[in-house]
Amino acid sequence: MAVRALRCGTLFDGTGAAPIRDALVVVTDGRITSVGPAGSRADATGMETLDLSGRFVMPGLIDCHSHASIVPGQGDQLGQLCRGPVPQALAATRNLRRDLAAGTTTMRVMGEEHFVDVDVRDAIEAGVIAGPRLLVAGRGLAANNAHGRALASYDGVDDVRRGARENLRRGANHVKIFVTGGVSSPGPTPTASAYTREEIRAAVEEADRVGTYAAAHAHGGPGLQLAVREGVRTIEHGALATDEDIALMIERGVWLICTFGIFMHPTGIEQGDGHRPAIMDKVHRARRVVADNFPRHLASGVRFACGTDSMHGLMPFELQTLVRFGVPPADALLAATRWGAEACRIDDEVGTLQPGKRADLIALDGDPLKDMAALTRVSLVMKDGVIYDGAHGG
Ligand SMILES: [Zn+2]
Repeated sequence: MAVRALRCGTLFDGTGAAPIRDALVVVTDGRITSVGPAGSRADATGMETLDLSGRFVMPGLIDCHSHASIVPGQGDQLGQLCRGPVPQALAATRNLRRDLAAGTTTMRVMGEEHFVDVDVRDAIEAGVIAGPRLLVAGRGLAANNAHGRALASYDGVDDVRRGARENLRRGANHVKIFVTGGVSSPGPTPTASAYTREEIRAAVEEADRVGTYAAAHAHGGPGLQLAVREGVRTIEHGALATDEDIALMIERGVWLICTFGIFMHPTGIEQGDGHRPAIMDKVHRARRVVADNFPRHLASGVRFACGTDSMHGLMPFELQTLVRFGVPPADALLAATRWGAEACRIDDEVGTLQPGKRADLIALDGDPLKDMAALTRVSLVMKDGVIYDGAHGG
């Protein structure tokens, strides 16, 4: 039995409780077995102890929307997805190591070709490569003329069912469906639905039948509303969501997964596709609409979590943006931990530092509740009780 105690300067456990000063976390065989003030565990003196007494310790970050193989700053994201499986797996290996080093211990991957995400997830679990724990979608379901279409398209109810079933057979954890247009590709307005009601419902049913859920790429408007009414669990992006869209999401208990960096950060779409006016017009519009609407949306009561959408290592930017839009810092940390776990339906395993949960945690130099920039100073990453050692990749 491997037992280790962590002496924490400040502990933010992700439950919503006030941070504990001078706390002790005990990890046994990869799971947390006790959490509390350091003085409360007299038996801790005999344990192997890791001294994090000058640090801020919190649950590992949960990136609810990314793609392992893509780097937006390289441009043409769909073109990147269409490369062969070997370059994709190699790119994913590099990108995911960066995510883990920056504190992301769990990531939901929202579409890859060749089932690279399934293989990479399994390679991480087997200890072959280092990376966050992955929840994967396999191929994103997209209509022939829609945003998100990479190597294959799925048209008509039967085709959507076939695509969903193939993904699930290959080991996908959830189903991803592209409902509206996107910001990173030219083409139709990002609010109309590329899929019919029946097609969306088919994806939701297939996911539901095997005990998982569907996630919809949707920016807002009629497409977003159709996806919500047909029963998707999460709306991805929602950059052009109206107050009416958000009200419907609140009514149906649907999660909003915010992805700001990809269109707001200078190394995102702007760097990769900045020379394409058809894309940059959309980026500029999304930035304007989000800056106008998100302070309201995020205070509306809609449940939200965060994703980098392939901006590897940039979860801090997502949280800094939440705070800039008026979210209290403690809530921004919850969005990246417990709420993310709830959105991804893995809150029985991760998202908080409580007895029974996996020992996924990070230590920061500085207090992100005072200055969110502290989240860029990750000095320790532990996943399943194992300390990630960046220098050795394991
Ligand atoms: Zn995405």
